[in-house]
Amino acid sequence: MMRQYELVERVQRYKPDVNEALLNKAYVYAMQKHGHQKRASGDPYFSHPLEVAAILTEMHLDEATIAVALLHDTIEDTTATRAEIDELFGPEIGALVEGLTKLKKLDLVSSKAEQAENLRKLLLAISEDVRVLLVKLADRLHNMRTLDHVPVHKRLRIAEETMEIYAPLAGRMGMQDMREELEELAFRYINPEAYHAVTERLSDLTERNRGVISEIEAALARLFEKYQINAVVKSRQKKPWSVFRKMEAKALSFEQLSDIFGFRVIVDTVEDCYRALGAIHTTWSMVPGRFKDYISTPKQNDYRSIHTTIVGPSRQRVELQIRTHEMDRIAEYGVAAHSLYKDFGPNANGPGNQISRDTNAYAWLRRTIEALSEGDNPEDFLENTKLELFHDQVFCFTPKGRLIALPRGATPIDFAYAVHTEVGDSCVGAKINGRIMPLMTELKNGDEVEIIRSKAQVPPAAWESVVVTGKARSAIRRATRNAIRKQYSGLGARILERAFERAGKTFSKDLLKPVLPRLARKDVEDVLAAVGRGELSSQDVIHAVFPDYKDERVTQGPKRREEGWFNLRNAAGMLFQIPGRAGRRNRKEKGRESSGGENGALPIRGVSGDLPVRFAPEGAVPGDRIVGILTPGQGITIYPIQSPSLTAFDDQPERWIDVRWDIDENMKERFPARLSVTAINEPGSLAAIAQVIATNDANIHTLSMARTAPDFTEMIFDLEVWDLKHLNRLISQLKEASCVSDVRRVNG
Ligand code: MN
Repeated sequence: MMRQYELVERVQRYKPDVNEALLNKAYVYAMQKHGHQKRASGDPYFSHPLEVAAILTEMHLDEATIAVALLHDTIEDTTATRAEIDELFGPEIGALVEGLTKLKKLDLVSSKAEQAENLRKLLLAISEDVRVLLVKLADRLHNMRTLDHVPVHKRLRIAEETMEIYAPLAGRMGMQDMREELEELAFRYINPEAYHAVTERLSDLTERNRGVISEIEAALARLFEKYQINAVVKSRQKKPWSVFRKMEAKALSFEQLSDIFGFRVIVDTVEDCYRALGAIHTTWSMVPGRFKDYISTPKQNDYRSIHTTIVGPSRQRVELQIRTHEMDRIAEYGVAAHSLYKDFGPNANGPGNQISRDTNAYAWLRRTIEALSEGDNPEDFLENTKLELFHDQVFCFTPKGRLIALPRGATPIDFAYAVHTEVGDSCVGAKINGRIMPLMTELKNGDEVEIIRSKAQVPPAAWESVVVTGKARSAIRRATRNAIRKQYSGLGARILERAFERAGKTFSKDLLKPVLPRLARKDVEDVLAAVGRGELSSQDVIHAVFPDYKDERVTQGPKRREEGWFNLRNAAGMLFQIPGRAGRRNRKEKGRESSGGENGALPIRGVSGDLPVRFAPEGAVPGDRIVGILTPGQGITIYPIQSPSLTAFDDQPERWIDVRWDIDENMKERFPARLSVTAINEPGSLAAIAQVIATNDANIHTLSMARTAPDFTEMIFDLEVWDLKHLNRLISQLKEASCVSDVRRVNG
């Protein structure tokens, strides 16, 4: 077991001004508290916190973190209390020890919902102080190193938790050594056969290639001497787990793996990295597609290095990583390296935690925590977090060169939301590398993405199933909810204004506040939206506000309704009489003149002589793309190409006939089109609609209506219009009528 002075010396080596008293006090306190407790191995319990502290000294952490490591199991396993630790070591250390005590109880391989909740707690604890994670990972590493002593039935569970949560988390925080060791240890317990098979073959291979490895090392050393680059060359063998994972992922056999051996070239400066790369590439040929420059584009966990693969001196592939000493340390220790590095800097007065807040790894943590507050359900959250933990990243750029890192499978929509929620909400299109591409496109590394925006945009709900980031998903959900609600509440306000006016009252939103309980609604917007959706009738609202008000529709309703009908019939009748009849007569005359055949009545080309031709019930007008459907014994029916009725004929291609309009500019003719108009249900609205139709020079052929909700009526108009332009103009005029809430072409 490490002695007290040995621990102090270790820290002193990298931190000369170490607070010795703090370390000594923590050492003695923890040793006394754990007393004669034993670990499963039979060792004194205190050896465990001491080993955890030792692991953290390898990462050069400050004495507060080392003290926390020594104390991390005291509250949970001994008579120590938070208050006592606060008193002896200060509240900062007390809070960290308590944070770790809470994490001890988390079981991260339990049921999905619980697991999600626990992961949340873990991430929240880490976000408060990243040193909690550093101690937790060191704790887990030591437990994994001594897992043999744990009862068999517990081993697998702990190993799985390590592989699923802690190893990726270490990787995400940039602590590659920690990640690798956790993975190797967990692999041994999760899949012992595979572990042993891979390990054996790897050591065979090392044995056989001993000569080759030193040959390459020597060749690289000579090369750097020639180019006068000061470099340290280290050979490294891939670890069993990463070999196994690669074999699985790429379905390769052991022999097919080309990069089991790698070399690390460590130099003094960034410039030397590129000089070394140049020297290597001019001496040996590089393997295409294997070059990656993580120096100019660091990974999201702050990893920086140049990767390349060359055909080496004995014609074998050699994988190389080129980096500076500083990059090497960050690659090994991640966030921990940052905290150390900055601790010695000019502003080194705070704890490691505060300092590492500006690293990418920490930024990832913050974003993940943010997603927690977006209110996703815990299982979604777990999925998202796991996805973001495990999958590789794609790195994309804004046109201004800002780097946006996204999980693999991300789309331009994810990209837009990653830039800013507002950018996502207003996204209508994307240019990828200068070309307009579908928003569903999967982004690739290095893509430059320009988001095309429109203020009028509301993100379609369907996007939710397309995006892969939690941020985009919850933002889309929120935006669609808001947009729908806004539409309905706007409509509801209009309905109420009119209903109040009709009742001889003046509507104001303030009137609704006192009656919210009576209407069983939580706020004014909610009332408006309910009226807009037709869930709550305007009359009920009036009654709630003015309990004494007599609903005229109850007393005089039937009569008034009849009046409404009568008015409409009048209006419609007039319309039919004047231009309508004339128009239809016109058509018949023209038809007779032009061909005399029965189908000659319709100006359609592509139809042979004597087949009767008619329009589908929903009509078709010049400007529509049309198609004819042949019904044997009956003739040809003309449909607009977008008509849903056509799906009925999908499997009968022989009945589809290519037809085109054959319009003579001088022969003015009208054509049938069917519209559905939804109007606010009040006297006079139908007359108003008929008026709009009349002033726009269209004919009403037939009209049917159905009361669809207390405050709305849907009317189906079969109209006669000149052409598509005419019809569209009419539709937009109808939409502007204040009593109209919706107009759409039926089947067209
Ligand atoms: Mn522990």
